[in-house]
Amino acid sequence: MIDFRPKAPRRPLFTRTHREGPQASTDTLVLAVCIWFVLTGNGPFWRALLEGRSGLAPGTWGLVAAVGVTLVALHFAFIAPLANRWTVRPLLSVLIVVAAFAGYYTDRFTVYLDPSMLRNVLRTNVGEARELFAWAMLPQLALHAALPLWGLWWVRPLRRRWLVSLPRRLGVWLLVVLLGTAALWSVFQDAAATMRNHKEMRWLITPGNVAWSVAMVLGQDTAQATRPREVIGADAKRTGVALLPGRKPMRVVLVVGETARAANWGLNGYARQTTPQLAAMPDVLAFTQVSSCGTNTEVSLPCMFSPWGRRHYDEARIRGSQSLLHVLKRAGVQVFWRDNQSGCKGVCEGLPNETLSAASAPALCQGGHCLDEALLAGLGQLSQGAGRDDQLIVLHQLGNHGPAYDRRYPDAFRRFTPVCQTSDLRQCSREQIVNAYDNALLYTDHVLAQAIAWLREASSTHDTALIYLSDHGESLGENGLYLHGVPQAIAPAVQTQVPMVVWLSAGLVQHQGIDLACLRKRAGQTTSHDHLFHSVLGLMGVGTSLYERPMDVFAACRR
Ligand SMILES: [Zn+2]
Repeated sequence: MIDFRPKAPRRPLFTRTHREGPQASTDTLVLAVCIWFVLTGNGPFWRALLEGRSGLAPGTWGLVAAVGVTLVALHFAFIAPLANRWTVRPLLSVLIVVAAFAGYYTDRFTVYLDPSMLRNVLRTNVGEARELFAWAMLPQLALHAALPLWGLWWVRPLRRRWLVSLPRRLGVWLLVVLLGTAALWSVFQDAAATMRNHKEMRWLITPGNVAWSVAMVLGQDTAQATRPREVIGADAKRTGVALLPGRKPMRVVLVVGETARAANWGLNGYARQTTPQLAAMPDVLAFTQVSSCGTNTEVSLPCMFSPWGRRHYDEARIRGSQSLLHVLKRAGVQVFWRDNQSGCKGVCEGLPNETLSAASAPALCQGGHCLDEALLAGLGQLSQGAGRDDQLIVLHQLGNHGPAYDRRYPDAFRRFTPVCQTSDLRQCSREQIVNAYDNALLYTDHVLAQAIAWLREASSTHDTALIYLSDHGESLGENGLYLHGVPQAIAPAVQTQVPMVVWLSAGLVQHQGIDLACLRKRAGQTTSHDHLFHSVLGLMGVGTSLYERPMDVFAACRR
């Protein structure tokens, strides 16, 4: 481009003016920060890419260099168009802080920051978020955020007339994209094969993973907010067991567990008795081969209350449709959702529900969290509201929500010791982590036993039942993994195998003609979240064309 003004001396990359820091162009700043991201914030990605390769082979170094250039170019290509003299520093500051946090969690817990994980993070309430933070993180976060932030605000963005800057910046952008493409091309076969075999690796690329997931979630949520939930089971009506003459009204409690894994569940044969109270009740049935729909609450909850489940999984369809509870309600069953966690994820939208707070049960709530026994407080009053109608009460537990397992139970349940008392699990031994986790299961066992005792008492006037089903499992350090949320396709069994318990009152068993020996046998066979929708419809006598008899665990055991 021709410039007719007298020639100014060529400006060096950094120009020092007196008193203030050096100047740099917008693109230089963006590029420098992109390089910082790729070099410092992507440990898990690099480890995954280099797994099984020799660090000494020249090919490995070539691959690292080429993928590094590609990642820098990729981030630059998206960030640079949004940056100008005014926005560059605020924009990069936000990204640096996001990358520091994302990098920390990916590194520490091998969290894959895909849209479902991000949805989980965004919907987390303050109490949960507070627990995820441990003071021990501060040094690493400070190093990863404070250092580049200081540098960024020390340097001043260069002022250029836009007529000069625009073509120049366009040129730089094209050059970087070209370089990135060339670098990718040079290792395409090798890198693409690795990425294809480990598709989930892309969710380790920080902070691109966060930016992409935020965009996806916002896009989906906006699309969803503009149209109402699709009505399902419009033909729902009472049928089957609901029409039996002389039956009692039904009262069913469905406890949605949190982060309880089958591997540590006493009833499922865990070496430690983590479910002593349930084990002492001979009429409790343990389903021992149950798999979850997802590995986090945001996926599992809507999925287990949908007619399609994992076998016909379609996230947009499930999120955009009504749930089991709406179908029950339509048929005349009273439904109520009581929450001790981060909400019902749309499952109870528009239906009676309440979220526990310190006001619900002051003695059981502290620091923004309630112990799960608070879910049982005032149940009697709640159920009286249903009168002679059939009723389903859903209790959504806080359960084994990590990493602060030790805060999930009162002191009396700290039976396996020593326990891990920090959220920074890496500071604890495996034994301490497992102890705290198992204590939380002991407490769930107690809560379930209390709920059953209450239902047993009510069985003189009602046909009562309890179903307990956990939403997903948890990793407790196996293979270096902690917490949950590994993409379903590659998730370890500890994250997808969950406990499930069924208790039926003697009256219900008799009225519905259920063969308990048959059901006990069924409990040992393969089951999944997909069975919940159809089993509850069958148990409560609600018929609709959505109902699939083979998915109803009770159906084959009715005489
Ligand atoms: Zn969960």
